[in-house]
Amino acid sequence: IKSTMMDYPLTLSTLVERLKTYYPRVEVVSRLPDKTLHRTHYLDIHKRTKRLASALTKRGVKKGEGVATLMWNHYGHLEAYLGVPIMGGVLHTVNLRLSPKDIAYIINHAGDKVLIIDDILLPLYEQFKDDVALDEVIVVPLTGEKVNSEYTDYEDYLKLGDDDFSYPIIDENDAAGMCYTSGTTGRPKGVVYSHRSTVLHAMAEAMVDTLGVSQSDVVTPVVPMFHANAWGLSYTSVLVGAKQALPGPHLDAESLMDLYQSEQVTLSAGVPTIWMAIKTAREAEPNRWKTAPNMRMVVGGAAVPESLFRAFDKFDMTIIQAWGMTETGPLATVGIVKESLSDLDEDAKYACRIKQGLTLPFIDIRIVDEEGVELPWDGKTSGNAELKGPWVTAAYHKNEGAEDSFSEDGWLKTGDVCQIDQEGYVKLTDRTKDLVKSGGEWISSVDLENAIMGHPDVLEAAVIAVAHPKWDERPLAVVVVKEDKQITTDDIRQFLEGKFTKMWLPDAVEVIAEIPKTSTGKFMKMALREQYKHWVWE
Ligand code: ADP
Repeated sequence: IKSTMMDYPLTLSTLVERLKTYYPRVEVVSRLPDKTLHRTHYLDIHKRTKRLASALTKRGVKKGEGVATLMWNHYGHLEAYLGVPIMGGVLHTVNLRLSPKDIAYIINHAGDKVLIIDDILLPLYEQFKDDVALDEVIVVPLTGEKVNSEYTDYEDYLKLGDDDFSYPIIDENDAAGMCYTSGTTGRPKGVVYSHRSTVLHAMAEAMVDTLGVSQSDVVTPVVPMFHANAWGLSYTSVLVGAKQALPGPHLDAESLMDLYQSEQVTLSAGVPTIWMAIKTAREAEPNRWKTAPNMRMVVGGAAVPESLFRAFDKFDMTIIQAWGMTETGPLATVGIVKESLSDLDEDAKYACRIKQGLTLPFIDIRIVDEEGVELPWDGKTSGNAELKGPWVTAAYHKNEGAEDSFSEDGWLKTGDVCQIDQEGYVKLTDRTKDLVKSGGEWISSVDLENAIMGHPDVLEAAVIAVAHPKWDERPLAVVVVKEDKQITTDDIRQFLEGKFTKMWLPDAVEVIAEIPKTSTGKFMKMALREQYKHWVWE
């Protein structure tokens, strides 16, 4: 017997058309550089998206060609998210926090000929324009100021397009978007998403037992639209018709809290450093803001300390942990408590929530040892995590880095060390390169950091491996303390005693003013390792 089902392509044009048919009056709110709020709705986004697609076609952008964006999270970026792929182009979201040299490298590597850029980012463009060969630079006038005539004004560009743009035939496996890894080790590598992977990721992300995004949500991705597609939330919100409240360039705690309050945001997402700042702001002024009841906050990109879960529960803001990478679309796991575990006591539930969680449907995971031999799911054996799935990359653009990134049987090597328990919960113990290898034992820097950040006087903590004459490596904790507080190595060791074996306790604690952060807001441990490489143990 043969299947009788249609072979219907999973492409983004379906999402765009649903905006007009079902969600025309749903709002898209964007914070502009001057902090005012720009308001539009999906009917207008639909119209402008098709005009953009039409204009790009008329100006000669071909199927499969990259269109680069250097933009914050706002309506214009959303229009590019939709308008570029539906005309066959490949939306290349460039991380504006990279160095001008790296930006030029990845624009050239992707072969982009068109750049859409926020007017406030033109000073950045000036720094790399001589190193790229672009045919057209389209400037979004966010400030309302006239665009210099050497560039194309985005609003004029849209006028070039027709309202009756007709969708070209696109195969669901055609490229839709592209994102480079941040290149913490070596050159950035390009990951290219297809229409199919983008649509399937959006459907999986909307499921009730993952992030449960629905039309009754108001969604604020704080995670930039240039960082792993704002974790898919732009597409998922469009798919289900959720209102979006986009923060523009204003990512400080106060601006975000104001936005959450004024738009009654129900779902937001970002890296832990963002939430640490919000925690500090809320604790300083507990009665200042009133957010939507039961607001959900997706936190990922780096491990989330238990203290953060507990603090936000008190504000009626529930943290949901997610784990993924640029290479995995990006969502791979979500940390929900299974119904069968709902009887757990409160502490056990927290212990469950601080794990990275369960894989999404169709994401396969395994943990393997150095030789690639599969390890058991017993909740205590750590191994290198490898993934497969319909929104997991099988290669890098131009096939770079394939040797170390994929197993012989086609799994993606994540570079993360994980344990998996019998219930299927994935717990990330470290990134391979951040593990502390002490006397033949592996010490998880993540576990130590999370525990240290539970200390009432500590704001941030990063644990790094430092060479040791006897033990190979020993953990050094680098901490930032709260204003007017002081902390010693003994304080931290005492605080950790009983939580870890003695061998795990950091041998020294260094207090610094700020932990260096990466372009995506994570602790930059590589910089710390460099800073402390000549450390002498007492
Ligand atoms: P990069 O961190 O190199 O900029 P990505 O943004 O793609 O690149 O990040 C992917 C990595 O982030 C993962 O491999 C993992 O190490 C880390 N990560 C993501 N989510 C989590 C999480 N919930 N807990 C711990 N680490 C995480």
